[in-house]
Amino acid sequence: MDISIGKSVDGVPLWVIEISDKPGIEEAEPAFKFVGNVHGDEPVGRELLMLLANWICDNYLKDPLAKMIVENVHLHLLPSMNPDGFTLRRRGNANNIDLNRDFPDQFFPMNEDISSRQPETRAIMRWLREIHFTASASLHGGALVANYPWDGTEDRRRHYFASPDDETFRFMSSIYSRSHRNMSLSKEFEGGITNGAAWYPIYGGMQDWNYIHGGCFELTLEISDNKWPNASELPTLWEYNKRSMLNLVASVIKTGVHGRIYSSDSGRPLPGFVLIKGINSTQIKASRGLADYHRMLAPGAKYEVVASMPGYKPKTTTIWLEEGAMTLDFILDPIATTVENQLKSICDCSCSGRSSIELMGFVWNAHLGVYFLLVIIVLAFICILFRRRMPVLKHRQTGVLKKSIVV
Ligand SMILES: [Zn+2]
Repeated sequence: MDISIGKSVDGVPLWVIEISDKPGIEEAEPAFKFVGNVHGDEPVGRELLMLLANWICDNYLKDPLAKMIVENVHLHLLPSMNPDGFTLRRRGNANNIDLNRDFPDQFFPMNEDISSRQPETRAIMRWLREIHFTASASLHGGALVANYPWDGTEDRRRHYFASPDDETFRFMSSIYSRSHRNMSLSKEFEGGITNGAAWYPIYGGMQDWNYIHGGCFELTLEISDNKWPNASELPTLWEYNKRSMLNLVASVIKTGVHGRIYSSDSGRPLPGFVLIKGINSTQIKASRGLADYHRMLAPGAKYEVVASMPGYKPKTTTIWLEEGAMTLDFILDPIATTVENQLKSICDCSCSGRSSIELMGFVWNAHLGVYFLLVIIVLAFICILFRRRMPVLKHRQTGVLKKSIVV
């Protein structure tokens, strides 16, 4: 399905291809996006995304990975974020602005003036508000490395600057580099991956903004040393990157923790939030309609997952995440209903059919008022203990997702 998410400075539509068995329809599935040609003079990504779209459509009935992606992910491809720069064969857009320096920055709010932000940047920002992306990657040229947040440092110096999800980002970057023909063999970057700020700090980048504002785990992939190779080299570049691209998309279903959040009283889906204790990053939002959430996490570790929703009691559960993905649903109790239930419990246990006002009158009229009050408090406490709803958590490993990643 083709949609335009906006227009460039020169009015060229920013076309997006959505690949899914139900494009345009909301499903309880993660969404992934690839953005190519952010820099006008780096066209390899734009070509590879067209090849990726064709390959998945041609192979989804034959190739298990293509089938898994079509059936379980909503994959969005924006082959060119900067069509004007591409036409001009230069880095910036028609206003000669570097789009990967045009996003709001966490440390240096130099570009907070929305009216001066480029239309291509604004289109991406709107897009992220509309669609709940679990992860994404932008494609660049001029080097061969998978780059992960943070891209900028607070002191403007060049050094490793880990984000709260450093482990997960290293894991995702390694999926790309190790699935690539030669990225992981890099002499410049160990394992073919790098922290953005350790390479060179940038400000106003798209990668950090996606992670901070959308809870979307974005990588910046440098996929070709030569920015503008001959067209005859494209089939080779495609072959080198094909498995990496597919495996990175599939990582949003093969790893991490996924589930839905429901209300205990009505059973309706709750568009709540999920966070991991000890990881101080943006909370992952469950979708508005189906309340599904998808949280990328590095495997081989124990995590405390907390689900919350205003007006409901938060719930926490501890998981041991192995190689495969884990499905974890939450059922939250409304705060008001909980209080009502507890009051009802007290009444049921101590009144035996009498109203609480009658009981209070009896107690105060008797000489042993204080004694009776104490008995009621103890009884109420026992009732609450017995009647308290135990957390109901579905905690299972799904067969299809359990397989380890082919890297
Ligand atoms: Zn670039």
